[in-house]
Amino acid sequence: MQAFEATNFYFDRAASLMDLTDNMRTLMITPDRELRVEVTIEMDSGQIGNFIGYRVQHDNARGPFKGGLRYHPHVDQDEARSLASLMTWKTAVVDLPFGGGKGGMNCDPSKLSRGELERLTRKFVLQIHDFIGPDKDIPAPDVGTDAQVMAWIMNEYSKFHGFHPACVTGKPVEFHGSAGREAATGYGIFIVTREILNRLKQEIAGSTFAIQGYGNVGSFTARFLHNAGGKVVAVSDAYGAVTNPEGIDIPELDKHVSTDRKVIGFKGGDASTNEQLLTMPVDVLIPAALGGVFDATMAKAVQAKIIVEAANGPTWPEADEIFHSRGIPVVPDILANAGGVIVSYFEWVQNLQHFRWSLEQVQREQETKLVESFNKVYDLSQRKSTSMRTAAFMLAISRVGRARVLGGI
Ligand code: GLU
Repeated sequence: MQAFEATNFYFDRAASLMDLTDNMRTLMITPDRELRVEVTIEMDSGQIGNFIGYRVQHDNARGPFKGGLRYHPHVDQDEARSLASLMTWKTAVVDLPFGGGKGGMNCDPSKLSRGELERLTRKFVLQIHDFIGPDKDIPAPDVGTDAQVMAWIMNEYSKFHGFHPACVTGKPVEFHGSAGREAATGYGIFIVTREILNRLKQEIAGSTFAIQGYGNVGSFTARFLHNAGGKVVAVSDAYGAVTNPEGIDIPELDKHVSTDRKVIGFKGGDASTNEQLLTMPVDVLIPAALGGVFDATMAKAVQAKIIVEAANGPTWPEADEIFHSRGIPVVPDILANAGGVIVSYFEWVQNLQHFRWSLEQVQREQETKLVESFNKVYDLSQRKSTSMRTAAFMLAISRVGRARVLGGI
Protein backbone atom coordinates (compact mmCIF):
# COMPACT_ATOMS: atom_id res chain seq x y z
CA MET A 1 0.00 0.00 0.00
CA GLN A 2 1.25 3.48 -0.81
CA ALA A 3 0.76 6.65 1.22
CA PHE A 4 -2.10 8.13 -0.85
CA GLU A 5 -3.98 4.84 -0.71
CA ALA A 6 -3.62 4.81 3.08
CA THR A 7 -5.03 8.35 3.37
CA ASN A 8 -7.94 7.36 1.12
CA PHE A 9 -8.54 4.28 3.24
CA TYR A 10 -9.05 6.53 6.28
CA PHE A 11 -11.26 8.84 4.22
CA ASP A 12 -13.39 5.92 2.99
CA ARG A 13 -13.72 4.37 6.42
CA ALA A 14 -15.14 7.63 7.78
CA ALA A 15 -17.23 8.34 4.67
CA SER A 16 -18.89 4.94 4.94
CA LEU A 17 -20.34 6.02 8.30
CA MET A 18 -21.78 9.12 6.66
CA ASP A 19 -24.40 9.86 4.12
CA LEU A 20 -22.04 10.51 1.20
CA THR A 21 -22.74 9.57 -2.41
CA ASP A 22 -20.11 7.77 -4.49
CA ASN A 23 -19.82 10.80 -6.76
CA MET A 24 -19.15 13.02 -3.81
CA ARG A 25 -16.49 10.59 -2.52
CA THR A 26 -14.68 10.58 -5.86
CA LEU A 27 -14.90 14.35 -6.05
CA MET A 28 -13.41 14.79 -2.59
CA ILE A 29 -10.59 12.27 -2.99
CA THR A 30 -9.31 13.46 -6.38
CA PRO A 31 -6.70 16.24 -6.36
CA ASP A 32 -7.63 19.41 -8.27
CA ARG A 33 -4.21 19.94 -9.84
CA GLU A 34 -0.79 18.29 -9.80
CA LEU A 35 2.33 20.14 -10.87
CA ARG A 36 5.58 18.33 -11.60
CA VAL A 37 8.51 20.43 -12.69
CA GLU A 38 12.11 19.82 -13.61
CA VAL A 39 14.30 22.10 -11.51
CA THR A 40 17.73 22.56 -13.03
CA ILE A 41 20.47 24.52 -11.28
CA GLU A 42 24.19 25.01 -11.46
CA MET A 43 25.87 23.17 -8.57
CA ASP A 44 28.88 24.68 -6.78
CA SER A 45 31.07 22.20 -8.65
CA GLY A 46 30.00 23.67 -11.97
CA GLN A 47 27.98 20.54 -12.81
CA ILE A 48 24.30 20.77 -13.68
CA GLY A 49 21.97 19.47 -10.96
CA ASN A 50 18.57 18.13 -11.98
CA PHE A 51 15.82 17.85 -9.37
CA ILE A 52 12.10 17.18 -9.56
CA GLY A 53 9.70 19.50 -7.78
CA TYR A 54 6.04 18.76 -7.01
CA ARG A 55 3.04 20.76 -5.91
CA VAL A 56 -0.24 18.94 -5.48
CA GLN A 57 -3.33 21.11 -4.97
CA HIS A 58 -5.88 18.78 -3.50
CA ASP A 59 -9.00 20.73 -2.61
CA ASN A 60 -9.87 24.43 -2.27
CA ALA A 61 -13.58 24.26 -1.49
CA ARG A 62 -13.02 26.00 1.87
CA GLY A 63 -10.30 28.47 0.81
CA PRO A 64 -6.88 28.68 -0.86
CA PHE A 65 -4.76 25.52 -0.97
CA LYS A 66 -2.45 25.43 2.04
CA GLY A 67 0.41 23.19 3.03
CA GLY A 68 4.12 22.70 3.36
CA LEU A 69 7.03 22.11 1.03
CA ARG A 70 9.20 19.10 1.83
CA TYR A 71 12.83 18.70 0.70
CA HIS A 72 13.73 15.04 1.11
CA PRO A 73 15.03 12.13 -1.01
CA HIS A 74 11.71 10.25 -0.50
CA VAL A 75 9.57 13.00 -2.00
CA ASP A 76 7.54 11.78 -4.96
CA GLN A 77 4.14 12.32 -6.56
CA ASP A 78 2.33 9.79 -4.40
CA GLU A 79 3.69 11.15 -1.15
CA ALA A 80 2.84 14.73 -2.17
CA ARG A 81 -0.69 13.61 -3.07
CA SER A 82 -1.19 11.89 0.26
CA LEU A 83 0.16 14.84 2.23
CA ALA A 84 -1.89 17.33 0.20
CA SER A 85 -5.03 15.36 0.94
CA LEU A 86 -4.16 15.24 4.65
CA MET A 87 -3.89 19.05 4.58
CA THR A 88 -7.44 19.32 3.23
CA TRP A 89 -8.74 17.30 6.18
CA LYS A 90 -6.41 19.00 8.66
CA THR A 91 -7.44 22.56 7.80
CA ALA A 92 -11.09 21.44 7.94
CA VAL A 93 -10.78 19.68 11.33
CA VAL A 94 -9.48 22.88 12.93
CA ASP A 95 -11.85 24.98 10.84
CA LEU A 96 -9.40 27.25 9.00
CA PRO A 97 -10.54 28.98 5.79
CA PHE A 98 -8.10 26.95 3.70
CA GLY A 99 -7.99 23.89 1.51
CA GLY A 100 -5.14 21.43 1.19
CA GLY A 101 -1.95 21.34 -0.82
CA LYS A 102 1.55 19.99 -0.47
CA GLY A 103 4.72 19.88 -2.42
CA GLY A 104 8.35 19.25 -2.31
CA MET A 105 11.59 18.59 -3.99
CA ASN A 106 13.27 15.26 -4.43
CA CYS A 107 16.67 16.18 -3.00
CA ASP A 108 18.83 15.70 0.08
CA PRO A 109 19.18 19.18 1.61
CA SER A 110 21.95 17.97 3.95
CA LYS A 111 24.13 17.44 0.88
CA LEU A 112 23.42 20.85 -0.64
CA SER A 113 25.31 24.06 0.11
CA ARG A 114 23.35 27.12 1.18
CA GLY A 115 23.87 28.63 -2.26
CA GLU A 116 22.59 25.49 -4.00
CA LEU A 117 19.56 25.39 -1.72
CA GLU A 118 18.77 29.01 -2.51
CA ARG A 119 19.15 28.54 -6.28
CA LEU A 120 16.97 25.42 -6.12
CA THR A 121 14.24 27.21 -4.20
CA ARG A 122 14.24 30.25 -6.43
CA LYS A 123 14.15 28.12 -9.59
CA PHE A 124 11.22 26.14 -8.19
CA VAL A 125 9.32 29.37 -7.53
CA LEU A 126 10.17 30.57 -11.04
CA GLN A 127 8.34 27.50 -12.36
CA ILE A 128 5.28 27.56 -10.12
CA HIS A 129 4.74 31.23 -9.17
CA ASP A 130 1.63 31.61 -11.33
CA PHE A 131 -0.04 28.78 -9.42
CA ILE A 132 0.70 30.01 -5.88
CA GLY A 133 -0.15 33.26 -4.07
CA PRO A 134 -1.99 34.67 -1.03
CA ASP A 135 -5.42 33.75 -2.38
CA LYS A 136 -4.42 30.70 -4.47
CA ASP A 137 -1.98 28.40 -2.71
CA ILE A 138 0.23 29.24 0.28
CA PRO A 139 3.31 27.07 0.92
CA ALA A 140 4.95 26.66 4.35
CA PRO A 141 7.83 24.75 5.93
CA ASP A 142 7.84 20.96 6.27
CA VAL A 143 10.55 18.31 6.63
CA GLY A 144 13.85 19.69 5.24
CA THR A 145 12.72 23.29 4.79
CA ASP A 146 12.77 26.22 7.21
CA ALA A 147 12.13 29.94 7.64
CA GLN A 148 15.08 30.85 5.39
CA VAL A 149 13.66 28.81 2.51
CA MET A 150 10.31 30.57 3.01
CA ALA A 151 12.08 33.97 2.92
CA TRP A 152 13.60 33.07 -0.47
CA ILE A 153 10.17 32.01 -1.72
CA MET A 154 8.61 35.32 -0.68
CA ASN A 155 11.42 37.30 -2.26
CA GLU A 156 11.34 35.35 -5.54
CA TYR A 157 7.55 35.55 -5.73
CA SER A 158 7.70 39.33 -5.21
CA LYS A 159 9.82 39.73 -8.37
CA PHE A 160 6.82 38.64 -10.44
CA HIS A 161 3.84 39.78 -8.39
CA GLY A 162 5.03 42.60 -6.08
CA PHE A 163 5.03 42.76 -2.28
CA HIS A 164 2.82 39.93 -1.00
CA PRO A 165 4.18 38.51 2.27
CA ALA A 166 1.01 36.39 2.62
CA CYS A 167 2.11 34.26 -0.37
CA VAL A 168 4.01 31.93 1.99
CA THR A 169 4.01 31.30 5.76
CA GLY A 170 6.63 30.18 8.24
CA LYS A 171 8.87 33.12 7.30
CA PRO A 172 11.51 34.48 9.72
CA VAL A 173 9.93 36.69 12.41
CA GLU A 174 12.06 39.64 11.29
CA PHE A 175 10.95 39.10 7.67
CA HIS A 176 7.13 39.18 7.91
CA GLY A 177 6.85 35.94 9.88
CA SER A 178 4.73 35.46 12.99
CA ALA A 179 5.81 35.16 16.58
CA GLY A 180 5.35 31.57 17.70
CA ARG A 181 5.30 29.98 14.22
CA GLU A 182 8.56 28.05 14.58
CA ALA A 183 7.44 26.44 17.85
CA ALA A 184 3.80 26.13 16.79
CA THR A 185 3.59 22.45 15.82
CA GLY A 186 5.46 21.36 18.97
CA TYR A 187 3.34 23.65 21.12
CA GLY A 188 0.22 22.16 19.57
CA ILE A 189 1.45 18.62 20.27
CA PHE A 190 1.98 19.66 23.88
CA ILE A 191 -1.58 21.00 24.10
CA VAL A 192 -3.32 17.97 22.60
CA THR A 193 -1.14 15.64 24.70
CA ARG A 194 -2.28 17.52 27.81
CA GLU A 195 -5.90 17.25 26.68
CA ILE A 196 -5.85 13.51 25.97
CA LEU A 197 -4.03 12.84 29.26
CA ASN A 198 -6.65 14.90 31.12
CA ARG A 199 -9.44 12.83 29.57
CA LEU A 200 -7.70 9.74 30.92
CA LYS A 201 -7.30 11.41 34.34
CA GLN A 202 -3.56 11.94 33.98
CA GLU A 203 -1.32 14.99 33.77
CA ILE A 204 1.82 15.96 31.89
CA ALA A 205 3.73 16.32 35.16
CA GLY A 206 4.94 12.89 36.18
CA SER A 207 3.93 11.18 32.92
CA THR A 208 6.54 9.58 30.67
CA PHE A 209 7.11 10.37 26.98
CA ALA A 210 9.11 8.89 24.11
CA ILE A 211 9.66 11.11 21.09
CA GLN A 212 10.78 9.70 17.77
CA GLY A 213 12.44 12.52 15.82
CA TYR A 214 14.30 15.53 17.16
CA GLY A 215 13.82 18.02 14.36
CA ASN A 216 11.74 21.17 14.62
CA VAL A 217 8.58 19.39 15.82
CA GLY A 218 10.13 16.77 18.13
CA SER A 219 12.53 19.17 19.83
CA PHE A 220 9.92 21.86 20.58
CA THR A 221 7.54 19.16 21.82
CA ALA A 222 10.24 17.86 24.18
CA ARG A 223 10.93 21.36 25.52
CA PHE A 224 7.26 22.11 26.27
CA LEU A 225 6.70 18.72 27.92
CA HIS A 226 9.90 19.02 29.98
CA ASN A 227 9.03 22.56 31.14
CA ALA A 228 5.62 21.32 32.31
CA GLY A 229 7.20 18.61 34.46
CA GLY A 230 6.88 15.75 31.96
CA LYS A 231 9.54 13.04 31.91
CA VAL A 232 10.90 12.70 28.40
CA VAL A 233 12.52 9.28 28.81
CA ALA A 234 13.61 8.74 25.19
CA VAL A 235 14.30 10.77 22.07
CA SER A 236 15.76 9.76 18.74
CA ASP A 237 16.82 11.08 15.36
CA ALA A 238 17.96 9.48 12.12
CA TYR A 239 21.21 8.26 13.76
CA GLY A 240 19.85 6.61 16.92
CA ALA A 241 18.16 7.15 20.27
CA VAL A 242 18.99 8.24 23.80
CA THR A 243 17.09 7.01 26.85
CA ASN A 244 17.00 7.89 30.52
CA PRO A 245 14.29 6.41 32.77
CA GLU A 246 14.62 9.39 35.15
CA GLY A 247 13.81 11.81 32.33
CA ILE A 248 16.28 13.42 29.93
CA ASP A 249 17.52 16.91 30.83
CA ILE A 250 16.21 18.57 27.66
CA PRO A 251 18.12 21.91 27.96
CA GLU A 252 21.36 19.89 28.35
CA LEU A 253 20.41 17.69 25.38
CA ASP A 254 19.78 20.83 23.32
CA LYS A 255 23.31 22.06 24.10
CA HIS A 256 24.69 18.70 22.95
CA VAL A 257 22.62 18.70 19.75
CA SER A 258 23.62 22.26 18.89
CA THR A 259 27.27 21.16 18.71
CA ASP A 260 27.05 17.49 17.65
CA ARG A 261 23.94 17.78 15.38
CA LYS A 262 22.67 14.40 16.68
CA VAL A 263 21.23 13.06 19.94
CA ILE A 264 23.55 10.06 20.29
CA GLY A 265 26.68 10.75 22.25
CA PHE A 266 24.68 12.70 24.84
CA LYS A 267 26.14 11.94 28.28
CA GLY A 268 22.87 12.30 30.18
CA GLY A 269 21.39 9.05 28.87
CA ASP A 270 22.09 5.65 27.36
CA ALA A 271 22.44 4.98 23.66
CA SER A 272 19.55 3.06 22.15
CA THR A 273 17.84 2.44 18.82
CA ASN A 274 14.76 3.83 17.14
CA GLU A 275 13.03 0.43 17.37
CA GLN A 276 13.64 0.23 21.12
CA LEU A 277 12.22 3.73 21.55
CA LEU A 278 9.05 2.83 19.66
CA THR A 279 8.39 -0.19 21.86
CA MET A 280 9.19 1.31 25.26
CA PRO A 281 6.57 1.19 28.03
CA VAL A 282 5.69 4.89 28.30
CA ASP A 283 2.52 6.86 28.86
CA VAL A 284 2.74 8.70 25.54
CA LEU A 285 4.61 7.76 22.37
CA ILE A 286 5.07 10.64 19.93
CA PRO A 287 6.22 9.82 16.38
CA ALA A 288 7.62 13.15 15.14
CA ALA A 289 9.66 12.13 12.11
CA LEU A 290 8.61 10.74 8.74
CA GLY A 291 5.50 8.77 7.75
CA GLY A 292 4.95 5.01 7.70
CA VAL A 293 6.50 4.21 11.10
CA PHE A 294 3.84 1.81 12.40
CA ASP A 295 3.08 -1.36 10.45
CA ALA A 296 1.26 -4.38 11.91
CA THR A 297 4.37 -5.86 13.55
CA MET A 298 5.34 -2.60 15.17
CA ALA A 299 1.77 -1.90 16.28
CA LYS A 300 1.71 -5.22 18.15
CA ALA A 301 5.05 -4.45 19.80
CA VAL A 302 4.15 -0.93 20.99
CA GLN A 303 3.80 -0.74 24.78
CA ALA A 304 2.76 2.92 25.08
CA LYS A 305 -0.64 3.79 26.57
CA ILE A 306 -1.35 6.64 24.15
CA ILE A 307 -0.03 7.71 20.74
CA VAL A 308 0.04 11.32 19.61
CA GLU A 309 0.92 11.68 15.91
CA ALA A 310 3.22 14.65 15.45
CA ALA A 311 4.40 13.36 12.07
CA ASN A 312 2.13 13.22 9.03
CA GLY A 313 0.96 9.70 8.18
CA PRO A 314 3.00 7.67 10.68
CA THR A 315 0.40 4.86 10.95
CA TRP A 316 -0.50 2.38 8.21
CA PRO A 317 -4.18 1.27 8.23
CA GLU A 318 -3.33 -2.27 9.44
CA ALA A 319 -1.52 -0.77 12.45
CA ASP A 320 -4.38 1.62 13.07
CA GLU A 321 -6.80 -1.32 13.40
CA ILE A 322 -4.43 -3.01 15.85
CA PHE A 323 -4.10 0.10 18.03
CA HIS A 324 -7.88 0.43 18.04
CA SER A 325 -8.47 -3.20 18.99
CA ARG A 326 -5.79 -2.98 21.70
CA GLY A 327 -7.56 0.09 23.15
CA ILE A 328 -4.58 2.40 22.58
CA PRO A 329 -5.97 5.87 21.82
CA VAL A 330 -4.31 7.58 18.84
CA VAL A 331 -4.59 11.34 18.48
CA PRO A 332 -4.43 11.48 14.66
CA ASP A 333 -2.01 13.65 12.69
CA ILE A 334 -4.74 15.81 11.13
CA LEU A 335 -5.68 17.01 14.60
CA ALA A 336 -2.50 16.55 16.66
CA ASN A 337 -0.06 18.41 14.42
CA ALA A 338 -2.47 21.11 13.22
CA GLY A 339 -0.78 23.69 15.47
CA GLY A 340 1.63 24.52 12.66
CA VAL A 341 -0.98 25.38 10.08
CA ILE A 342 -3.09 27.19 12.70
CA VAL A 343 -0.25 29.63 13.34
CA SER A 344 0.40 29.77 9.58
CA TYR A 345 -3.17 31.00 9.33
CA PHE A 346 -2.43 33.68 11.96
CA GLU A 347 0.68 34.68 10.01
CA TRP A 348 -1.36 34.97 6.81
CA VAL A 349 -3.99 37.10 8.60
CA GLN A 350 -1.29 39.38 10.06
CA ASN A 351 0.35 39.75 6.62
CA LEU A 352 -2.94 40.60 4.95
CA GLN A 353 -3.68 43.21 7.62
CA HIS A 354 -0.08 44.49 7.80
CA PHE A 355 -0.33 44.13 11.55
CA ARG A 356 1.58 42.13 14.17
CA TRP A 357 0.35 40.01 17.04
CA SER A 358 2.26 39.36 20.27
CA LEU A 359 3.48 35.84 21.11
CA GLU A 360 0.94 35.74 23.94
CA GLN A 361 -1.91 36.43 21.54
CA VAL A 362 -0.69 33.83 19.04
CA GLN A 363 -0.35 31.13 21.70
CA ARG A 364 -3.66 32.01 23.35
CA GLU A 365 -5.59 31.84 20.07
CA GLN A 366 -3.75 28.67 19.01
CA GLU A 367 -4.65 26.98 22.27
CA THR A 368 -8.31 28.00 22.03
CA LYS A 369 -8.57 26.64 18.49
CA LEU A 370 -6.83 23.37 19.25
CA VAL A 371 -8.69 22.65 22.48
CA GLU A 372 -12.01 23.38 20.79
CA SER A 373 -11.15 21.05 17.89
CA PHE A 374 -9.81 18.36 20.21
CA ASN A 375 -13.05 18.42 22.25
CA LYS A 376 -15.18 18.18 19.10
CA VAL A 377 -13.22 15.20 17.77
CA TYR A 378 -12.98 13.43 21.11
CA ASP A 379 -16.67 13.86 21.88
CA LEU A 380 -17.68 12.70 18.39
CA SER A 381 -15.48 9.61 18.74
CA GLN A 382 -17.19 8.78 22.03
CA ARG A 383 -20.67 9.38 20.62
CA LYS A 384 -20.02 7.22 17.56
CA SER A 385 -17.89 4.64 19.40
CA THR A 386 -15.13 5.07 16.87
CA SER A 387 -11.45 6.05 16.87
CA MET A 388 -10.43 9.69 17.03
CA ARG A 389 -9.02 9.34 13.50
CA THR A 390 -12.38 8.31 12.09
CA ALA A 391 -14.12 11.04 14.07
CA ALA A 392 -11.64 13.66 12.81
CA PHE A 393 -12.16 12.53 9.21
CA MET A 394 -15.94 12.61 9.68
CA LEU A 395 -15.82 16.17 10.98
CA ALA A 396 -13.50 17.24 8.15
CA ILE A 397 -15.49 15.48 5.43
CA SER A 398 -18.73 17.08 6.58
CA ARG A 399 -17.14 20.55 6.49
CA VAL A 400 -15.49 20.12 3.08
CA GLY A 401 -18.62 18.48 1.68
CA ARG A 402 -20.82 21.28 2.94
CA ALA A 403 -18.55 23.90 1.35
CA ARG A 404 -18.62 21.99 -1.95
CA VAL A 405 -22.40 21.91 -1.94
CA LEU A 406 -22.80 25.54 -0.87
CA GLY A 407 -20.25 26.83 -3.38
CA GLY A 408 -21.67 24.70 -6.18
CA ILE A 409 -19.93 21.78 -7.83
N1 GLU B 1 3.92 21.38 6.94
C1 GLU B 1 3.05 21.62 8.05
C2 GLU B 1 1.96 20.56 8.11
O1 GLU B 1 2.12 19.47 7.62
C3 GLU B 1 2.53 23.04 8.07
C4 GLU B 1 1.67 23.43 6.92
C5 GLU B 1 1.32 24.92 6.87
O2 GLU B 1 1.63 25.63 7.82
O3 GLU B 1 0.74 25.33 5.87
O4 GLU B 1 0.95 20.75 8.71
